[in-house]
Amino acid sequence: MNKRRKISIIGSTGSIGTQALEVIDKLRDKFEIIALAGGNNVDLLKEQALKFNPKYVYAAKPIEVGGVKVLESLDDIAENKENDIILVACSGKVGLKPTLKAIENGIDIALANKETLVMAGDIVMKKAKENRVNIIPVDSEHCAIHQCIKDISQVEKLIITASGGPFLHKSQEEMKNATVEQTLKHPRWNMGRKITVDSATLMNKGLEIIEAHHLFGFDYDVIEVVIHPQSVVHSAIEYVDGSVIAQIGLPSMHIPIQYAITYPDRFEGIKSKSFSFADIARLDFEEPDFDKFPTVKLAYRAGKMGGTATACLNAANEESVFAFLDGKIKLFQIYEITKLMLDEHELIKNPTIDEIFEVDKQVREKVKKLICKKYDVNAVNCL
Ligand code: MG
Repeated sequence: MNKRRKISIIGSTGSIGTQALEVIDKLRDKFEIIALAGGNNVDLLKEQALKFNPKYVYAAKPIEVGGVKVLESLDDIAENKENDIILVACSGKVGLKPTLKAIENGIDIALANKETLVMAGDIVMKKAKENRVNIIPVDSEHCAIHQCIKDISQVEKLIITASGGPFLHKSQEEMKNATVEQTLKHPRWNMGRKITVDSATLMNKGLEIIEAHHLFGFDYDVIEVVIHPQSVVHSAIEYVDGSVIAQIGLPSMHIPIQYAITYPDRFEGIKSKSFSFADIARLDFEEPDFDKFPTVKLAYRAGKMGGTATACLNAANEESVFAFLDGKIKLFQIYEITKLMLDEHELIKNPTIDEIFEVDKQVREKVKKLICKKYDVNAVNCL
């Protein structure tokens, strides 16, 4: 990077956003921040704006920061061609439309938002190709694969690793009755609440299979999942000749975030210590138990259905996770509800963005109604 890279962050107050600012803080001379966008945490956003001096801020709630222009919408960031790259670090479907807009404007994307590809991977990747836009994955597994690939035409298989989450060695029974607190105790990664629940059910891996399919253009049959509790091998690829290339490193999100926003360059940045195989001592791998974690198979099924099926899967899962976090349903019921929604889904094979959002909306309403009527024992006045 010869000149300072102009960057905006959508979702700067979240888990990925705050870690990205830690990376940028270490590499101050490499970046110029154009805009920071947060959701409701305006206090933190204000603090970030005062420290990093962006030209613009955007928040979901009213905000005032001296000397910084407040934008009306996320589109104002996505349309601003001053940006060399936009880090889409928010969670949820709010990430999708600004990402598409930024792609249309030829701005490279560092992508941490899963919904963008899970909901609309076909449309997003097609647009990126048309506009010659780079989409660099932040998700550690996809970032690993991105780093391993030299000649994609000679790659035969993608191998995505999964830590297995907090219930890897717990019985199915223990998992069924897990509390929110137990579920949020992830052994390796420090992440937001929604994704931590997804890691416990392994739906996170399911969503990552779908992301990988879109990002790298591989069939679902050649995308494999392997449990690797130490989270040191972040994923791997197998070439046609049998050579396997894996990306290895300590489990810190700073590394993939930095890779994505500085690509193709590398800097020392925030690296805390040098990697040592001797310190790690051992690396374990095992096949996932699909009976205990049926969400993975469900994601494969939705992925192979294509069209709006993955938007349905995503919406049903997310609403169910929120209901679990609110104490309305049990952990295993997230799968039960999501499967039911997929069973009943009326597939649109080649949807428009509006049709995808409509499916998202309808599935969420259906899930909420179902939970109120059937699952939530404290519910009153269900519509
Ligand atoms: Mg991941």
